[in-house]
Amino acid sequence: MQSAKTRKTGFVYAEQFMWHDTQRYNLLVAPGLTVQPGEHAENEETKRRFRNLIAVTSMEDELVPIKARAATETELLRFHTPKHLSDLDALCKAGGGEAGGKSPVGPASFDIAKLAVGGVLEAVDAVINGTVDNAYVLCRPPGHHAEKELVTGFCLLANGVLGVEHARQVHGLKRIAIVDWDVHHGNGAESAFYNDPDILTISMHQDNLFPPDRGGMAELGAGAGAGTNLNIPLLPGSGSGAYRAAFDQLVIPELKDFQPEMIFVASGFDASALDPLGHMMLSSRDYAYMTDALMLIADTHCQGRMLMTHEGGYSAAYVPYCGLAVLERMTGHDTGVVDPFLGFIENYGGQKLLPHQQAVIEEVAAHHPKTKT
Ligand code: ZN
Repeated sequence: MQSAKTRKTGFVYAEQFMWHDTQRYNLLVAPGLTVQPGEHAENEETKRRFRNLIAVTSMEDELVPIKARAATETELLRFHTPKHLSDLDALCKAGGGEAGGKSPVGPASFDIAKLAVGGVLEAVDAVINGTVDNAYVLCRPPGHHAEKELVTGFCLLANGVLGVEHARQVHGLKRIAIVDWDVHHGNGAESAFYNDPDILTISMHQDNLFPPDRGGMAELGAGAGAGTNLNIPLLPGSGSGAYRAAFDQLVIPELKDFQPEMIFVASGFDASALDPLGHMMLSSRDYAYMTDALMLIADTHCQGRMLMTHEGGYSAAYVPYCGLAVLERMTGHDTGVVDPFLGFIENYGGQKLLPHQQAVIEEVAAHHPKTKT
């Protein structure tokens, strides 16, 4: 186990990530005669402000920059089909448009998506080679909803899944866990590894939010992979108590039992209290709590190896503080920045674990005997 002070955290960011053009939507609805065009929910502002908060604090000097590169076709074909890639390429070359599942693209979006994947792969290399201990990839477009041949939920290419395949196929890792704390279900990883006993997929999300009718607690994995998919569909209104209980009672015991060699995190901040697409109540302190818990597992089983890919999170005001809290835990460096929203959010009613929320956790646990400590 390493002391927090010596931990090196790689950081991937490219200005071009901000140039992925999601066009003039109204949150997630295409404009029309009765729908005024505005900003698409997944626009650059949230991520740029996260990057800017890093830049104006001492966190800037703590992170180890890792340069993104375009992923190759061979690397993308480890998960996606040739049709998936050629369809995206053709749409972008035609000037862009709706690529599927509320995911508009611009002319450069496919190239930028390949740069995001390549950034993840570079971060995987750095973590496994030991150049850094862990890494955060602050990329756009996000990736956790993308499936083999499906663009959906603002996700074009499966950043995290392709990172896992890189860790396996290039570096020879065998057992990997993916923890998805985005408020939406991690359907991309679930679909990729549903039958795979070597990849543990965990998703905590708002029950039946997106994609529709996915992420049910009875979806356990199949065949040889039976038991290696853990869905935790939390009810709207879940806050600090519910998330921490779900983490303590379900996520951590499952990870301890699985003993992964590396942990990937689909890091969405749309379970924050101020998010326009989710209805949860997390604060930056809750994201710090979850980061600490995962780092403890990573230190025990994975030589500290943990890699986060940035996913959703649509509150431009609040995502930067959640992100900074996570980076403070990953680096072990306290910037001294005070989250200006923390008192407001922690004062919300219902932040403590409520009986109906514990009932959901116990229902999930009943499907997963290994979570019972
Ligand atoms: Zn999300």
